[in-house]
Amino acid sequence: MAIEVTVVRRPERNVSYLRASLKGMALTFQHLFRKKVTMQYPEEISEDEWSISPRWRGTHRMLTDEQGRARCVACGLCPQICPANCIKLVPGEDEEGNRYPLIYEIDEFRCVFCGYCQEVCPEEAIHVGVHYENAEYQRERFVYDLERLCAQTHPVSSLWDPADPRGE
Ligand code: SF4
Ligand code: SF4
Repeated sequence: MAIEVTVVRRPERNVSYLRASLKGMALTFQHLFRKKVTMQYPEEISEDEWSISPRWRGTHRMLTDEQGRARCVACGLCPQICPANCIKLVPGEDEEGNRYPLIYEIDEFRCVFCGYCQEVCPEEAIHVGVHYENAEYQRERFVYDLERLCAQTHPVSSLWDPADPRGE
C-alpha cells in the first residue's frame, strides 16, 4: 500500500487565533455527543465491551487434580528455565517415590510473564493466567505460595501457537 505524505505548509499571512480556538472548541463539542470509548476503571468494568486477549500472560495459576492437590511433580524444569529466577521450588518425595513440591513459590513482582514455565511444564500444572488485577500494598504479598497459586480461578492463557499464529 502506497504511503500518502501530506505536506503542511506554514501560513504566509497572520492567522486568527480566535477562529482557530473556536474551531477547536467546536470539535470538542462534537465529541460530547459521540459514543464513549473509555471507562472509569476500576469503578466501571464492562466485560461485554472490553476483554483481554486469551493470550494475555498474567497472574499464575497452579492447576489441581481431582483430590485438590497441585499437579506439579517437582521436576524442576520451570525454575530451571525461568529467565527472571523468580520460582522457588523445594521438592519432596512420598513413601511411594512420588515427587511433589514441599515449597513452590512465584514472585510475581520479579516475573517477566514470558510464559516459559507454562510451556515447559510436562504436567500442564503451572500456567500464566488471563488476569491482571494483582496490585498489592506490600512487596512480600507478590510472592504467591502454592496454596495461593492453587486457589486462583481465572482462565489460563492459551499462549502463542506457531501452528495458529492468528489465534483462530
Ligand atoms: S512467566 Fe517467565 S519469568 Fe514468570 S515465572 Fe514463568 S518462566 Fe519465570
Ligand atoms: S515444570 Fe511443572 S511439574 Fe515441573 S516443577 Fe514446574 S510446575 Fe512442577
